[in-house]
Amino acid sequence: MQHLKQEKTFVLIKPDGVKKGLIGEVISRFEQRDLKIVALEMFQPTRQMIDDHYPKDMAWIERLGHKTLSTYEKYGLDPKSSLGTDDSKEIGKMVRGWVIDYMTSAPLVRMVVQGVHAVDMVRKIAGPTLPYAADMGTIRGDFSIDSPAIANAEKRAVANILHASETAAEAEHEIKHWFGKAVIHTYKRYGMDE
Ligand code: GDP
Repeated sequence: MQHLKQEKTFVLIKPDGVKKGLIGEVISRFEQRDLKIVALEMFQPTRQMIDDHYPKDMAWIERLGHKTLSTYEKYGLDPKSSLGTDDSKEIGKMVRGWVIDYMTSAPLVRMVVQGVHAVDMVRKIAGPTLPYAADMGTIRGDFSIDSPAIANAEKRAVANILHASETAAEAEHEIKHWFGKAVIHTYKRYGMDE
């Protein structure tokens, strides 16, 4: 029971979240749902740090390439004329590079969020990856309208305010990667039984 209340997830506020002045808003949305911030820091990432954060395996890269290609298909656009290729692996590598450019373009805020179903709750509060498709009431739906059609045409990553771990295993890996030996704090919030 206790460990269910102490599930932890990793959140990174991305350059557009920082530059739109949304650090406080993002934190509030977690805190108002009874989730606790147990580690928090602003920092300037290196390209290497971001490169190590995103998976390097071909399956992940190809998935990103397929996702990007699906937007070209949806809008009847030719990937070859704008990207020079229609190969999902090549496009995946290209988009991964755009993501690294984007993620190193400003300081980021990293945090560990703890609470009941923290991984799923934080993803729900954040909304889905593509802001134009995110419901109002989610962070991405309320504060961004970015779309892959525009981002691909401008040869940049979709700007979507924050990253949040997708599974408990990913959260554990990302907390280790981003916080290493740093202290994850413990405290009891007023009125919460934990
Ligand atoms: P996340 O787990 O919600 O961050 O999403 P993914 O792991 O699927 O994608 C990683 C990052 O790649 C996203 O946060 C976006 O910045 C970017 N991205 C995802 N899909 C696309 C796309 O179709 N086009 C472009 N340009 N960027 C994308």
